[in-house]
Amino acid sequence: MDLQRLKRRLQELKQPSYRLQQAARSYYQDLANGWEDLTTWSKDLRAACQDSAWSPLTQIAALESRDPESVKFAFKTQDGLTIESVVMRHDDGRNTVCVSSQVGCAMGCAFCATGTLGIKRNLTAEEIVDQIVQTARYLKTKDGRVTNVVFMGMGEPFNNTDEVFKAIDLLTSPEAFGLGARHISVSTCGIVPGIERLAKEFPQINLAISLHAPSQDVREKIMPVAKAYPFDRLMRAIRSYMDKTHRKVMFEYVMLEGVNDSLEQAEELADLFNEHRHLAHVNLIKYHETGKFKASAEAHIKAFQNVLKRRGISVTRRVSFGEEIDAACGQLAGKI
Ligand code: SAH
Ligand code: SF4
Repeated sequence: MDLQRLKRRLQELKQPSYRLQQAARSYYQDLANGWEDLTTWSKDLRAACQDSAWSPLTQIAALESRDPESVKFAFKTQDGLTIESVVMRHDDGRNTVCVSSQVGCAMGCAFCATGTLGIKRNLTAEEIVDQIVQTARYLKTKDGRVTNVVFMGMGEPFNNTDEVFKAIDLLTSPEAFGLGARHISVSTCGIVPGIERLAKEFPQINLAISLHAPSQDVREKIMPVAKAYPFDRLMRAIRSYMDKTHRKVMFEYVMLEGVNDSLEQAEELADLFNEHRHLAHVNLIKYHETGKFKASAEAHIKAFQNVLKRRGISVTRRVSFGEEIDAACGQLAGKI
């Protein structure tokens, strides 16, 4: 729901200001399906506002996977593009929505299915938020609610920072969706100005870095962004983020056989953190084979993990959600 546009419309119609709050409450909090559910308004007023879309996205599919439980949604934008979101249902009652910030992605990481699409366009804040509102409607029918949001779907959030930040404002505002900032995470492939803005403007939001390599030479082979924002500059920005916010940063590391998974590379990775070790958390991700690489063997991932543990680094393996419905990381490619 585009509140600015609706506000203008209501002003044209000389309506009192509480009308906007009624509509916002109905959309964000009551999770109503459409204008017809806004029964505190007259039929005529609803009709007069209907040129403002209630939900800018149309849900075209919802695919459920059982083990572990996740649901992948495909949505159509008003200009006919497809985007995807995933909700992961955890055993402890948390429901994490993984949202897209762009249609496709311009960054071209060699291991990522979204990266092969190229970029079509940025999503607006309303389109980003609507993915979460529509997921919340789905969860409501199952007696669940959205507890966490991660910007880990299609796109690079810091190539669309203004709209992503507007979306975060709407998500955290008590008058809109009302989610706690600490329940929201933004993942970036390493766009330094975005990291700096996050530290300044949203120090409570969690930051995740798709690192995937312990050094510049390996990183630039698999992630073209490393040419624009080289390793040392990125690590400096992250350390300064940690010093400013005292927040833990999550480092995502997809395990690619023979590329970034040697035990020497695990040592190199551990060396990066030094005195910031207590604020670093490494998440080792099983590679979902989408292209030219091979996933590291389980036993090998364990050994890599043990090196980090021995060096005092907090490290986990990411639980893989939704592989059977191609809903796992890096597999969102708008092909549902
Ligand atoms: N563009 C942002 C947000 C996307 S998050 C970023 O890159 O951080 C999606 C996560 O899944 C990233 O950590 C990404 O590197 C990882 N990923 C991409 N392709 C993958 C694949 N095939 N298997 C496992 N993880 C992958
Ligand atoms: Fe884009 Fe992230 Fe995929 Fe890289 S990993 S291509 S930045 S979505």
